[in-house]
Amino acid sequence: MSHRTQVVVIGGGQAGLAAGYHLRRLGLDFVILDAQTTPGGAWQHAWDSLRLFSPAAYSSLPGRLMPPQSGETYPDVQHVVEYLADYEKRYELPVERAVRVLGVHRDGGLLRVETDSGTWHARASISATGTWWRPFIPNIPGQATFEGRQLHTAAYRSPANFAGQRVIVVGGGNSGAQIAADLAHDTRLTWVTQRPPRFLADNIDGRALFDAATARRRALDEGHTDTGGVASLGDIVAVPPVREARDRGLLKAAPMFSRLTRGGVEWADGTCAEADAVIWCTGFRPALSHLAPLQLRGRRGHIATTRTRAVDEPRLHLLGYGDWTGPASATLIGVGRPARDASREIAQLVRA
Ligand code: FAD
Repeated sequence: MSHRTQVVVIGGGQAGLAAGYHLRRLGLDFVILDAQTTPGGAWQHAWDSLRLFSPAAYSSLPGRLMPPQSGETYPDVQHVVEYLADYEKRYELPVERAVRVLGVHRDGGLLRVETDSGTWHARASISATGTWWRPFIPNIPGQATFEGRQLHTAAYRSPANFAGQRVIVVGGGNSGAQIAADLAHDTRLTWVTQRPPRFLADNIDGRALFDAATARRRALDEGHTDTGGVASLGDIVAVPPVREARDRGLLKAAPMFSRLTRGGVEWADGTCAEADAVIWCTGFRPALSHLAPLQLRGRRGHIATTRTRAVDEPRLHLLGYGDWTGPASATLIGVGRPARDASREIAQLVRA
């Protein structure tokens, strides 16, 4: 089947919905194509105990505050999924599910979006596919030798699956600290980080991180020196379960090991630890394979952008992948502004 519209938004997570909100306000004709069967983007797949690192009101998309979750300062993932489902219904956003975009192609004056359920032709497109779908695991010698379980953050659900086991959690970011805290009580945990973990002060949560990211962008835009932004403050938000495990002395980190063995891991000095499972909390990369036909990747696989617009394909915007597509754009509160700016640029292009 072939369809025609002004704008195709690829991805119906929070970034795609924020774009939809602004495209609708600007009166554009658009569709949001989402590969999931149900609303909520990546939040549907997060581990059971994950909590937002900001209170509800500071985790809101444009137009509609996230309601507080009863009894919780920091909402859980189910609350976020319900908020996103309600958001797309409230604004009657035209989300098509389950539709996976396979490739975006140049087709004369239009972009041709090929999917597993037909083809869309559009004047412009916003790619908002997130990162959850491209987990990153570093190359460490011996990975194929290890006989235990190896999984990435994306596949972790709950400590129940590891009760009593020797588990090695790799990674000094928020996912690593939170999953280590989750496992600290019921498993024999070893938490491994590349450098000593840097906890943010206990009174710093996502609100302060958002302010730091915004101040940094403003400073850079005005030609001032780099404030260092969020990274200058630390790596790990001390959300209540992390703080509690840390204060009980359960979150002591070991340095990174140098290889995996059949039964566990080994450090450069020959020290070994046995393990039943290794959980790689080593981050994600932008899920951009559907853009390959446009051949936009420059050195080191990076797509050059001016704000959200692809430099070499002005009809394409990239939204929500991280600071390179707008300060704090990979957060609920931060994606609204780049979504608005991208939609305005597209409106100008389409109406020119
Ligand atoms: P996603 O939620 O991944 O949505 C993208 C959508 O696009 C998905 O539905 C996907 O199926 C779809 N898609 C992908 N490829 C295709 C394709 N080819 N065709 C069609 N559809 C496609 N942010 C906060 O604000 N507060 C927090 O507390 C917070 N905690 C986080 C904790 C973790 C562990 C992680 C990983 C992130 C956290 N974030 C947080 C960051 C961010 O808010 C989330 O990652 C969020 O899910 C990003 O939304 P998104 O819309 O960009 O991507």
